[in-house]
Amino acid sequence: MTEQDFIHKRFSLAVRQFSKFFKISLSKMFVHFFHLIKRFAFKFLNLIFSIPKYMRYQPKVMDWNTLHVYGQHECLMIEDTKADLHKHYVGCTKNPDHRQFILFKQFSLKHLPEGYRGDNDLFDLIVFTGNLTVRVDVKMTSPHRPDVWPGTSHPYPFYDLRGKTNMRLGSGRVSVLKFINGSGSDGYGNDINIDGHKYSTAYQSCPCEKCQNSGSASQVWYEIVAKTATHVVFDTIEASHTTCKLFYDDHDSPVVVLDKFQVYGASVEDDQCDMKYVTCDNELGEKLFNLVKRFFELSRKLYLKYKKRSDNTLCFIVSHPHGTTKQVSIGHWVDNRKVRDYNKSYNKTQLKYTTCTCPGSSGANVSCVGVSNIHFHSGAHLKGLNVSCAGFCSKRDMKIPPE
Ligand SMILES: [Zn+2]
Ligand SMILES: [Zn+2]
Repeated sequence: MTEQDFIHKRFSLAVRQFSKFFKISLSKMFVHFFHLIKRFAFKFLNLIFSIPKYMRYQPKVMDWNTLHVYGQHECLMIEDTKADLHKHYVGCTKNPDHRQFILFKQFSLKHLPEGYRGDNDLFDLIVFTGNLTVRVDVKMTSPHRPDVWPGTSHPYPFYDLRGKTNMRLGSGRVSVLKFINGSGSDGYGNDINIDGHKYSTAYQSCPCEKCQNSGSASQVWYEIVAKTATHVVFDTIEASHTTCKLFYDDHDSPVVVLDKFQVYGASVEDDQCDMKYVTCDNELGEKLFNLVKRFFELSRKLYLKYKKRSDNTLCFIVSHPHGTTKQVSIGHWVDNRKVRDYNKSYNKTQLKYTTCTCPGSSGANVSCVGVSNIHFHSGAHLKGLNVSCAGFCSKRDMKIPPE
């Protein structure tokens, strides 16, 4: 045998062996792949058929050219029972394991992401935001809800439930104004609002029902303003059938429930609703007013600390996903799109963020650390991003997120 024949023979043998090995591996891989597909299909079918239709999360395509995420609001419709809330939580198809949510009562410094660990001020800001977070329960759908979002042909949430008393849940955040003899101030100590208007009333004493029916109305009172989305609370009819649950951190927490709200200001276009509750209960008023003062102080401190950090896009939310006790989620904002000019100092913008939300999170406060913003959660997007209502963003902070 020549050397050439020998090489040829060895080569042929190697090719045959490789081909045999390849065929076996290929068939093994195919069997394994087929098995995986089968398992996935069974799991998927099981999941689909075990969840009632109304609980299935079905995000639709977002129209990026307009403000709203049509049909992807994150209110939760329930039948008003604890078992129902649990069923929704367990059957969640958006975030089945809820791994990115942290129970507010267990939230600690170690939950802050890398690059922010050990920042006590940031931890405190998240805690104070949580202390001002409310679960919003709405028991009525206004007959005045439009069929479509303004200026579009996209269906407006719950149009088909007009006049009905189905229960829906969302989230929100409270702010407080303190009035003395008709002159008000906010948590910053300012007596004018973002539009430059004075916080003052034509009346000099507390307008609450108790004071109106007594001979000696209080000279000091508080307006507790609950901020949420308009698709959660549409108008005064819905506000009068709304309750806000404060301090719902645990199932046995001493909660405070506020009701009989009036709409203070609402914009369907911006998906933003402020409703107020008036009280002269000094203990509750002062407690909330002091929480708001501390929340503003910390927001300002954190703003100054992080505004120049170019890699910072931290965005956190405290909400009541599935109507459960308060939960914290931390992510990043990825877009801050200008919707329009608001005034000399502020734009109206819409945020997009990776921060986790679930049905029940609609209306929750969306905080971007290092950006002077006031935004509330509006809905979810097909690509895994979430979006806010049109909120305020200082013109000097119209940053572009780093790639
Ligand atoms: Zn969920
Ligand atoms: Zn009163």
